[in-house]
Amino acid sequence: MKNLVVGAGFSGAALSRLLAEADEEVIVIDKKNHVAGNSYDYKDENGIMVHKYGSHIFHTNSEKVWKFICKFGDFNQYMHKVYAVIDGIETTIPFNFNTLYNVFPETLAKRLEEKLLDNFKYNSKVPVLEFLKQNDKDLKFLADYVYEKVFLHYTTKQWGVNPTGVDGAVTARVPVYLSKDNRYFQDKYQGIPLNGYTVLVETMLKHHKIKLLLNTDYKDYKGHYDRIFYTGSIDEYFDYKFGRLPYRSVNFKFETKECEFYQQNSVINYPCNYDFTRIHEFKHYLNDKSDKTVIAKEYSENFDPDKKDCNNERYYPVPKDENTALYNKYFEEAKKLKNVYFLGRLGDYRYYDMDKAVLRAIELFEEVFNA
Ligand code: FAD
Ligand code: UDP
Repeated sequence: MKNLVVGAGFSGAALSRLLAEADEEVIVIDKKNHVAGNSYDYKDENGIMVHKYGSHIFHTNSEKVWKFICKFGDFNQYMHKVYAVIDGIETTIPFNFNTLYNVFPETLAKRLEEKLLDNFKYNSKVPVLEFLKQNDKDLKFLADYVYEKVFLHYTTKQWGVNPTGVDGAVTARVPVYLSKDNRYFQDKYQGIPLNGYTVLVETMLKHHKIKLLLNTDYKDYKGHYDRIFYTGSIDEYFDYKFGRLPYRSVNFKFETKECEFYQQNSVINYPCNYDFTRIHEFKHYLNDKSDKTVIAKEYSENFDPDKKDCNNERYYPVPKDENTALYNKYFEEAKKLKNVYFLGRLGDYRYYDMDKAVLRAIELFEEVFNA
């Protein structure tokens, strides 16, 4: 069988590899001039590995995904932490007991800590929209504080609406955490590929059964194949017949600074100040040595298909009911097709992290081959 895989991001690359290992012919096309999709990285002239589409940290609890991914490159043991500037204080995010003591006077922090432990289990994670439903006066004060200082303005910048305007699962990604664990993720496996994501994905695609064509858009590609696996946007595949699925885009403003470090951490969030949401400093990920450093300020905006700016791309599906309803119409159309399968952040219109994109590719492969 000859397979066409559209998109050489994590989803398309993982699926291509699995097909090739099952002795199938695979042609992978990508309209970009590089592989790895949004996880693409490159070494700049100062030897700093830059994540072109924003910081990417691999993290998973899935042994299956981790085992698969580690076949294509070694990872360091980087554990991601995020700081946020709240009322001029640089503190840790997710909001946890350490944050509590950073932002409040000790007596107040202690009282709030005791109240929290009376009402929630130690080590539990509480989504902010749940946390707001407090009857106790002190806890209500704390919930309102966290909502206002961490979520309200950041989410408005990131999504263009307040936290109730997107699916609760979005803000639940960064819950209030009743713990002193300052890590952003608690997953068993975490790290950054030592040679970068691009090399990892290139290695995944290096197989005699796989042919890769870059700068090739599906709409212009004429070829013969028996199956199509499509990781582009599902509405585009169907020529937007039911309307366009909305996406958020991000504009990264990169700067090379004449100093060894610009900030003390890879990512610092600015929930309340400035128009950008966060600043990334990439050399922290692989401990790159240079007397210069590269940062990127992240500005969110709508994806606008008519905008002729190559930075304005589909980064985030916008999870909310009306968009899911629109996606479902396309999904129903997709089910009518024979030998055409959709996957990935854009194909499934889901807010997948890299591990979930890989897992989906593995599961789709198993489904198609067990059919
Ligand atoms: P993509 O990476 O978007 O790849 C799709 C590919 O398809 C693209 O290369 C595109 O050019 C190609 N394509 C689309 N349409 C066509 C067409 N018509 N013809 C040819 N080619 C086409 N995940 C994490 O696990 N950890 C993180 O820290 C993390 N940080 C992130 C930060 C940001 C700012 C963003 C936006 C995402 C982040 N992610 C993170 C998510 C991660 O980027 C995705 O999970 C992953 O990229 C999904 O891979 P994919 O292959 O599904 O999609
Ligand atoms: N969020 C927030 N303030 C923060 C961090 C996150 O309001 O300081 C919210 C915001 O809505 C964001 C969501 O939580 O979109 C998920 O954050 P995450 O860091 O997972 O976003 P990603 O890295 O995927 O952009």
